[in-house]
Amino acid sequence: MTAAAEKHMYDIIIVGAGPAGLTAAIYARRASKQVLVLEAASYGGQIINTPSIENYPAAMRISGVDFATGIYNQAKELGAEIRFEKVVGLRDNGEEKIVVTRKNEYTARAVILATGSENRKLGLENEAALVGRGVSYCATCDGAFFRNKTVAVVGGGNTALEDALYLADLAETVYLIHRRDAFRGEDATAERLKARENVRFVYNSTVTKLNAGKRLESIEVTDKDGAVSTLAVSGLFIAVGRIPENQSFAGVIPLDEAGYAVAGEDCRTGVPGVFVAGDNRTKAVRQLVTAAADGAVAATAAVQYISELA
Ligand code: NAP
Repeated sequence: MTAAAEKHMYDIIIVGAGPAGLTAAIYARRASKQVLVLEAASYGGQIINTPSIENYPAAMRISGVDFATGIYNQAKELGAEIRFEKVVGLRDNGEEKIVVTRKNEYTARAVILATGSENRKLGLENEAALVGRGVSYCATCDGAFFRNKTVAVVGGGNTALEDALYLADLAETVYLIHRRDAFRGEDATAERLKARENVRFVYNSTVTKLNAGKRLESIEVTDKDGAVSTLAVSGLFIAVGRIPENQSFAGVIPLDEAGYAVAGEDCRTGVPGVFVAGDNRTKAVRQLVTAAADGAVAATAAVQYISELA
């Protein structure tokens, strides 16, 4: 028997063990499919950075780590095989999909790409260390912790504008810091923001330093002429864009100009047998609940696809 003939064929390989990928694993296992989940880092995806989830139905308050652990254990108990290997490529051989990791190659009838996206970072020295201690990349996740406090949002796209609007309802003062004097985001949202009395605009400026003790205490802002000022804030919401983690699949599935896998709410990429679920998909609302929803939709579509192959 050749090595190729000995190769195990999974029904479904899921790339990514965040909420989308693990929900897909739960649905695929409940449909009795053989499932392999491949994850590059730790399970849970970006939700493990959220101290307290308060917007997931039926879970009034749960930490991101507890939520991720619950869904991970659920997928494992249902029989999903989960391996921690970084996926670096995908080959589409028609009815056989080959997923390439740094260590191995795995074969499946269908693949669900649930790799998510990562926040673009400002690249400041202690930025990573202060996540959960004043620095956040998600206003709707963490904004409630800054009720009646002074916060800053950095960015000029729709996310930054919407984050600032959301925070203006909670915080005492919101600084919106943008590196230019014109927003990339929609005028209508910018106009709504300008009507808010507790929002201060800091144009042509970038955040150049984070000052902290145990938590963030203030930020240093430098304008285009090099003038430096300090703003006392207890929260900094960084909204300078996201980077979808689809680089390994470029050339196999269609990506939009920002790198998102092009697919509608049915999670079909247009490539038979290749589905996409969660934040790396083109979509309007990137939230925990929509990632989980995508997982269910993609797994159901993959199960249907496999049944049509037989
Ligand atoms: P985005 O549109 O790419 O905007 C990123 C913003 O961050 C830009 O204003 C950019 O400045 C700034 N920026 C980038 N790198 C920076 C850095 N290192 N330092 C300081 N500023 C930096 O990202 P987004 O706001 O996350 O939106 C992503 C996509 O989702 C967009 O297509 C957006 O329209 C869409 N979206 C839509 C909605 C909605 O329809 N309701 C809501 C949210 C997002 P420059 O402008 O100078 O480049």
